[in-house]
Amino acid sequence: MSAPVLVINSGSSSIKYQLIDGETLVASTSGLIERIGQSESTITHKTGAEKHVWNEQLPDHAAGLEALVTAFDEFGTPLSKTGLIAVAHRVVHGGRRFVQPVVIDDEVMAAIGELSSLAPLHNPANLEGIQVARKLFPKLPQVAVFDTAFHATVPERAHLYAVPQDWRSEHGVRRYGFHGTSHAYVSRQAAAALGKSPKEVNVIVAHLGNGASVSAVERGRSIDTSMGLTPLEGLVMGTRSGDIDPAIIFHMHRQTGASFADLDSALNKESGMYALTGQVDMRAIEQAATGGDRDAEVALDVYCYRIRKYIGSYIAALGGADAIAFTAGVGENSPEVRARVLESLVALGVKLDDEANEAGGPVISTSDSPITALVIPTNEEGEIARQTTTLLRS
Ligand code: ADP
Repeated sequence: MSAPVLVINSGSSSIKYQLIDGETLVASTSGLIERIGQSESTITHKTGAEKHVWNEQLPDHAAGLEALVTAFDEFGTPLSKTGLIAVAHRVVHGGRRFVQPVVIDDEVMAAIGELSSLAPLHNPANLEGIQVARKLFPKLPQVAVFDTAFHATVPERAHLYAVPQDWRSEHGVRRYGFHGTSHAYVSRQAAAALGKSPKEVNVIVAHLGNGASVSAVERGRSIDTSMGLTPLEGLVMGTRSGDIDPAIIFHMHRQTGASFADLDSALNKESGMYALTGQVDMRAIEQAATGGDRDAEVALDVYCYRIRKYIGSYIAALGGADAIAFTAGVGENSPEVRARVLESLVALGVKLDDEANEAGGPVISTSDSPITALVIPTNEEGEIARQTTTLLRS
């Protein structure tokens, strides 16, 4: 039995999609619609070995999703003939309420809308995708899978911020964590790579993409993660600062008169590797460092040091780890970053195998390394499809 699911990841000006089997996790079609609402949008639609790219004017998400349906009609199998069982939506913030995937109804939509105060950049865009998809596919179940859900098991000692009580009770201030589908999938795959069930192992996952986070997964359950109330906390990222002294915000406000909206934007969109090097693409930054660019070299050092600190603290939080798994764009593709992160963790039990690291793994530690270091390609869409299929069959 196959279970094709259309997975939709709707951003503010883009829609990523995959038609993927929720059992085998094989994606038959994938695509990306970019620059929705601008003068010209680009659609990239890949099916089997074919790739089609064209430009079209798509004023809004409704037009984007209609273009998606047309792309399926024109290339390969129309969606209506695929035996689609559901449309699954990635939703960034599930707050305290959504700790599992849910079938979307009006009430769920209202709740996702209310959570927009916690994720103003993401939830409204996710919601727009859902609204349009419900109209376009009225007979199919629509499922929401939340980025925060996997971290719902993080205990109080790790999710409580020591801030005034009403911030916490009335304004939802706590650590939620993100990239949950990736941390869930990769930690499970890491256990499989060790030949164990997830319940038998402790795994640290370093998801290093444009956004980046680390999680500590104890016997299959997330017990800590580096992102917090929002995706701003934790690691140095492409354009996000990660951890800073919060008083920097008040200092800069007093010094420059910058509004909180400006400071929010500066920390989310103009900080991180971009602020340190002028670039966000890790390949370019590595090349610049190799070529002797001091800013790039220092930025790489800052980036990797922050990851190393988190990994070290999570080994302590877990009371020992069986594996460290690297994933996402940088984690999967940069031997340089992995080596810099792991180089001084020998005392904590990680012995890197340089050749295996250069070759890309999956195992990149030596056979006598107490902690196994791994490279595991993430599959967020696959995990969303899997969770959707499991929910609909339960
Ligand atoms: P997103 O968070 O947008 O999904 P990705 O997981 O696709 O991001 O990761 C994007 C990042 O991966 C970019 O910074 C890119 O430079 C980096 N990356 C991709 N390939 C390589 C590579 N070969 N070496 C170093 N970095 C890479």
